[in-house]
Amino acid sequence: MRIIAAMRAHWLRLTVLGLLLLSGCRRGPEAHTVRRSREVMGTFAEITAVAPDEAVAEAAVEAAYGRLNRVNDLMSTYRPDSEISRVNQLAPGQSLAISPETFHVLERAQAFAEATGGAFDVTCRPLLLCWREASEAGRLPTPEQLDAARARVGWQKLTLAADGRSASPAVAGVQVDLGAIAKGYALDLATEALREAGAVAGLVNVGGDVRGFGSRADGEPWQIGIRHPFRQALFGRIRLVDRAVATSGIQQRFFEVDGRRYSHIVDPRTGRPAEQAPSVTVVAPDGLTADAWATAFSVLSVEEGRGMAEDLPNVKVLWIWGSAEHPQTAQTPGFSELLVQ
Ligand code: ADP
Ligand code: MG
Repeated sequence: MRIIAAMRAHWLRLTVLGLLLLSGCRRGPEAHTVRRSREVMGTFAEITAVAPDEAVAEAAVEAAYGRLNRVNDLMSTYRPDSEISRVNQLAPGQSLAISPETFHVLERAQAFAEATGGAFDVTCRPLLLCWREASEAGRLPTPEQLDAARARVGWQKLTLAADGRSASPAVAGVQVDLGAIAKGYALDLATEALREAGAVAGLVNVGGDVRGFGSRADGEPWQIGIRHPFRQALFGRIRLVDRAVATSGIQQRFFEVDGRRYSHIVDPRTGRPAEQAPSVTVVAPDGLTADAWATAFSVLSVEEGRGMAEDLPNVKVLWIWGSAEHPQTAQTPGFSELLVQ
């Protein structure tokens, strides 16, 4: 049920984005556009490459998919052999040598945790598992279960070695989940692969989070639709010029207990599912930054988030909350400039 809801949400997001992209994609005489959709990282991805030569565009798309698969192999908690799953099996004090990619993502994640006072915290997996079990059993977790999970959560309980090569848990039962940040990082690696393979422009969409570089074959900027959380319609469209956009929120993926919806994003500070804005969209220079902030702003209150966003000149944010009858929105000053009128 939860998975069906998630898949439906992803398909909807991708369909909307796909339609928008198709409508703007004419081939110029010397620019070829190749677009391929595939299931990857537990969601649906769509990669578009623009290159002078069709074979170059094809090869670029394949290289980009290779990077998405690599991130999944290293960081997925659904793969028992991934580096993250192996970190999750360590005893306190034991350490595991990890790839530069995984180390980089963990290091950035720890910086986000510190900057957000622990609202963003990739060690939240024990809480996620607690709520997942509860939803499968159709009842809420007990306070004892939540306390036991919280005792194993906290970004300071994960140690990253100063040499940049290994990770180690400080207490028993530390569990990492990179679901809030790995997809954004994958956008960045895939974009880099497109460029390296000779694409002059491209767009990578993984489950609705998108990074674009250059412009469409017809010279126009890439345009991305932002779904309205309360309506079967778009909130609007934004131009994505050498930027990434990520949307998080309780409407995107959730589970139900006794008819009530709970977010798949938890507030590690309280142990409870996040109850802030149902939709937060972040535009940032790269995918990792957009993805991490979108999740963090889903945990922080709109006021807290706005305060933090003020100090982030390259990060533009749209919050939508309230109800279908009374939707409310807030934007950072730069966001409206991105909207297509
Ligand atoms: P989506 O998967 O819909 O793109 P997000 O990027 O917001 O959404 O990531 C949500 C995922 O992040 C959750 O499914 C979970 O794996 C993880 N997560 C949940 N709460 C937190 C949190 N407070 N800090 C870091 N990661 C979280
Ligand atoms: Mg995220």
